[in-house]
Amino acid sequence: MSLTAQIKEFALDIGYSKVGIIPADSFPEYIEDLTNRYGMYSFYIKGPARPLAAADPRSLMPEAKSIITTVYDYSQKSFPGELSDKIGRIYQARCYNAPAERINGARPQLMREFLQKLGCVVGDKIGLPERLVAAKAGIVNYGRNNFAYAKDIGSFIYLTSFVVDKELEYDDNPTVEVDCPENCSACMKACPTQAIYEPNKLNPGRCIAFNTFLTQDGMAGSHIEPEMREKMGVKVHGCDICQEVCPRNQARLKAKLPDDAFLVKVAQDFSLAQMLNMTDAFYMTRVRPLLYNYIREKKYFQRNAAIALGNLGDSAFVPDLAAAMDDPEDLVRGYAAWALGKIGGRLAKQILEAKLSRETTDSVRKEIEAALAVIQ
Ligand code: SF4
Ligand code: SF4
Repeated sequence: MSLTAQIKEFALDIGYSKVGIIPADSFPEYIEDLTNRYGMYSFYIKGPARPLAAADPRSLMPEAKSIITTVYDYSQKSFPGELSDKIGRIYQARCYNAPAERINGARPQLMREFLQKLGCVVGDKIGLPERLVAAKAGIVNYGRNNFAYAKDIGSFIYLTSFVVDKELEYDDNPTVEVDCPENCSACMKACPTQAIYEPNKLNPGRCIAFNTFLTQDGMAGSHIEPEMREKMGVKVHGCDICQEVCPRNQARLKAKLPDDAFLVKVAQDFSLAQMLNMTDAFYMTRVRPLLYNYIREKKYFQRNAAIALGNLGDSAFVPDLAAAMDDPEDLVRGYAAWALGKIGGRLAKQILEAKLSRETTDSVRKEIEAALAVIQ
């Protein structure tokens, strides 16, 4: 069996749904697009993934010859509804930044070890433009919502590629195109923030998903504008709206899929009130094992839970928000104040006034004053 056939067979054997191979050439169209939108993507361009360098793989790995690209279908089991309203499916599926001891981290590790056993040198931490790589290999095409779609699956997929130093047999039927129904723009219309400002163009600063996890100190800063908070609804991590409305995903979304026993077991841990006032131990033992990817500190989940509770507008959560106003983190107290202002009512007002008289942090005082100014 050829090296190429062995690699493809192994990839399918360990659970990838599709695999393709292309030469490790550069991706000038990606570099141009990203550079043209530097203002929107500077956080990413300057970040550790070094996407502009990675888009020219040989600049990071001079001996690079081939890229093996894979599709993992993470929607083979069902997602509990009580999680999917607030947590994106890809995060529930434990795909992003999966540590090697988790199944989705073990799979790339197995692939890497197999390639090494075949005599390949495998590139390390080369953050390739995964969607473009997979489209060039013909295993995905695009939706106007910017997601990659795999035939017979949809967009609930996770792409991983491996750069190696061996020449292989290449797939030469690229599918670098949008394959949506001609007049469909359901994703653009459904987006609560108009983040998809034209087909295949996303403004990450307007995207709810990015606002749930990029807004951390050391990244885009932890402040979320009130106008964006209101549009975030009850999303705590990620947003799937533009994929949920997509006709290309309906077959999978409506299919009767087996339960994911792990998610069924942990779903109860993710009530908004519980996340808002969670202890460090609860965060480490219950939240981190599911959501270990982009959000790095407990306080950001708490902030997002506070926003979600404010948007729910249910006065039953006023006591939870009052408790959060005693949290040691300024961020949590400030967003709890915003949420109390959103819910409104006499009790919320009394709590805000009492907290204002004792609050010493300027940023939190400002949030309390703003909340009191709008309270009904
Ligand atoms: S993920 Fe949500 S906010 Fe972002 S583009 Fe899609 S629908 Fe809009
Ligand atoms: S909603 Fe319509 S336009 Fe958007 S990605 Fe799906 S098929 Fe394409």
